[in-house]
Amino acid sequence: HQATPSAHEDLFQVESPNVVYTDSEIRSKYTYRTTSVTKNASGKFVATPKETVYDFKVDRKVPKVGMMLVGLGGNNGTTVTAGILANRRGLVWETREGPRAANYYGSVIMGSTMKLGTEAETMKDVSIPFHDVLPMVHPNDLVVGGWDISGMNLAEAMDRAAVLEPTLKAQVKKEMAQMVPLPSIYYPDFIAANQEDRAGNVIEGSKACTAHVEKLRSDIKDFKAKNALDKVVVLWTANTERYADIIPGINDTADNLLKAIEDGHEEVSPSTVFAVACILEGAPFINGSPQNTFVPGAIQLAERHNAFIGGDDFKSGQTKMKSALVDFLINAGIKLTSIASYNHLGNNDGKNLSSQKQFRSKEISKSNVVDDMVEANTVLYKKGEHPDHTVVIKYMPAVGDNKRALDEYYAEIFLGGHQTISIFNVCEDSLLASPLIIDLVVVAEMMTRIQWKASSRNGAETNEYRGFHSVLSILSYMLKAPLTPPGTPVINALAKQRGALTNIFRACVGLEPESDMTLEHKLF
Ligand code: NAD
Repeated sequence: HQATPSAHEDLFQVESPNVVYTDSEIRSKYTYRTTSVTKNASGKFVATPKETVYDFKVDRKVPKVGMMLVGLGGNNGTTVTAGILANRRGLVWETREGPRAANYYGSVIMGSTMKLGTEAETMKDVSIPFHDVLPMVHPNDLVVGGWDISGMNLAEAMDRAAVLEPTLKAQVKKEMAQMVPLPSIYYPDFIAANQEDRAGNVIEGSKACTAHVEKLRSDIKDFKAKNALDKVVVLWTANTERYADIIPGINDTADNLLKAIEDGHEEVSPSTVFAVACILEGAPFINGSPQNTFVPGAIQLAERHNAFIGGDDFKSGQTKMKSALVDFLINAGIKLTSIASYNHLGNNDGKNLSSQKQFRSKEISKSNVVDDMVEANTVLYKKGEHPDHTVVIKYMPAVGDNKRALDEYYAEIFLGGHQTISIFNVCEDSLLASPLIIDLVVVAEMMTRIQWKASSRNGAETNEYRGFHSVLSILSYMLKAPLTPPGTPVINALAKQRGALTNIFRACVGLEPESDMTLEHKLF
């Protein structure tokens, strides 16, 4: 898997006095327009349009990138790896419904488009693949590696996962068999006891220690050197851990967390140790599971090192539907009064979640996903008022990776009427999560090549270019419980999350936000 990055060719160029292309960079001057609101003496809102001018600078050289997965031998790990191999080799395989070819369906970056503008003559929309708006890494070029507490090679692990068609597996088997996960750190208390029998590939020691951090750092360095990589992005797709208690003096600050690791404190989870190793190594680290990997000390450490982190918990099936449907209902003026969500699944994730403490992590991450939408509608909901919301998950081995999600949305409509929407969502969990892994890695890498400075920020001039905040909330679209910079709001509404991603990328090439006004078709 020694891919060489394909040369990036721009699909379009922006012609504007505010945009300059050099061999190595795209530079744009962008006016960000917002509205500042105050209340005057008589209690009336006063809305004032505000403008900030930003300079953006995008590094055009697409680097050679390694994607290291924690949990490489799991359902997601093996599925995303096989998927990349299949795409790279343009594989076609037979199914009972006829031949199927490799694709990246389910990836926003690889499978969706954005409107570039309107064609001058025909006035028709011109759309381009999302992947082409900036010089992004192509997933076919990612070099895949990582860790697992299970030492199975990826061909056997892919069989164990029982996700892919046998005809596809046969074609990637040889390459997969050569890939064996690196030994990982295993602190039994953090994942379900029922996982113990797969933990045969572990680094010595059952609690956090500096030696573990150093070992993981050297694994990243070795992988980088061996594959001649410019960069490595690390993503946690290992088992859901229980929550770590936040203990003052232990994990509340960066220094305390480092000290706690040095002292072997029992409340530091494996995922936090991975996060710390990546932060110190300058490798972006993304958490695809629900637990609180990013304890306050980890976030502070990332800020201190200008390292990128993102999380938590892939937003693949039920919650993605929820964050689209609830956005629609509440914005349609319909008063949602309850959501009941039931899941059953039969893969190893389900087995792990059948343990109470691990289920609790998932329950928390699934529960807060409508808060921002409810709070924004002051017509339907009084302050503090909330729809009822319950989440149930059951382990049902027979259904395997074909997760079932049953949701009932109950709402109040005009004059005391009711609307009940019932959804039965069936899908292969890992086939939904794998493209999200790709999006998270590609976008996180892209963010390492974007810098900004403000011409006027709080009245002061900044002359130095700098990166985005360590906490990459731009990844929210792909995540159930988006981590945001401390003190900043969480956006769960799917359309807004996509808007942020689209429009930030557009701004980097000096394009206005995607506007749906289409005045050109309304005012002639
Ligand atoms: P899985 O159980 O098949 O895979 C997890 C892998 O992690 C296993 O191979 C396990 O051996 C390994 N592991 C456990 N602890 C480890 C450690 N400390 N270091 C290295 N490896 C370790 O699960 P999956 O279906 O691939 O899902 C992975 C994670 O993604 C789960 O936490 C799940 O909740 C989360 N998630 C999945 C989806 C989805 O699949 N649609 C959606 C949201 C979140």
